[in-house]
Amino acid sequence: MIEIDNITKIYDSARAVDGVSMTIDTGTITVIVGTSGSGKTTLLRLINRLEEPTSGEVRINGQSTLDVKPHILRRRIGYAIQGHGLFPHHTVARNIGAVPQLLGWTRDKIDARVDELLDLFSMAPQEFRHRYPSELSGGQQQRVGVARALASRPDLILMDEPFGALDPIIRTRAQEDLRRIQQTLGSTIILVTHDMEEAIRLGDRVAVMDGGKLVQHATPAEIITHPATDFVADMVGDVERPLRLLSLTPLAEVMEDGPANGAPLPREANLRDALSACLWTGRSAVPITDKGKIIGRVTLDAIRARAEVHA
Ligand code: ADP
Ligand code: MG
Repeated sequence: MIEIDNITKIYDSARAVDGVSMTIDTGTITVIVGTSGSGKTTLLRLINRLEEPTSGEVRINGQSTLDVKPHILRRRIGYAIQGHGLFPHHTVARNIGAVPQLLGWTRDKIDARVDELLDLFSMAPQEFRHRYPSELSGGQQQRVGVARALASRPDLILMDEPFGALDPIIRTRAQEDLRRIQQTLGSTIILVTHDMEEAIRLGDRVAVMDGGKLVQHATPAEIITHPATDFVADMVGDVERPLRLLSLTPLAEVMEDGPANGAPLPREANLRDALSACLWTGRSAVPITDKGKIIGRVTLDAIRARAEVHA
């Protein structure tokens, strides 16, 4: 359990983080969401003591982080940042194994862990182990950055906008991967984003920050149905409006000719159903049927265009 206890960080006279308290259960994902400058990054850095609090403290399983030397603390807490922060002159294996090596793991144990993580992230170890970051795609670099944060099986993993640089489709896959891996490993993750949709999709709990303050800490369903402030309602509104509109649009309205594979949807279904089908199965088009016969398809591009027109 992670307890953030009335923590405040003041720079000059500005309250970057202002009296934030929250309790986080082991084995869950908490997503901290807010607009730029709301104090998300500072809150994350207070947890692993890249910043020192002006007042308040953080306890991990009952122990104050102030009682642990910062460099020891940071070996126990994984940290992944936007733009991955990989060492460019080290191979993938050495990047992922960096913290286990600091912790004095044997070479065999490190190698096995690197391969296990590469497998989990769908990157064949024999193909990727010896590559350098510049020999990877953006999405692969980001996965290695996340794998590195997980490598030593830390008590806690902090992620600051880890998918911010990815394009929307890869981003959805990365989120699904993270969810799956988190459930497999039982990790405790605190992830920062400015994207409420990402927060709602990934979080067991969502913590909304505004002006350094925590304005709501609740399940995604509670955030959507009972936003605590107008600010939260505005942030949720931006997520829900296009989806609600997609769910009002029948597939027949954007049906076109062309190939599409996999399970079809009936023509009575709506664009939100089609969007889910595309995202869930990683397809860019879904066949449409009428009385069991394929009559056309709907593409992800067409769905996106409709969402944009209406947003
Ligand atoms: P977010 O990650 O939500 O965009 P930050 O935590 O980076 O927000 O910043 C919160 C506020 O604290 C901002 O107003 C920012 O300018 C200020 N701030 C952050 N780091 C520093 C610093 N090292 N010195 C002075 N002000 C800072
Ligand atoms: Mg930030």
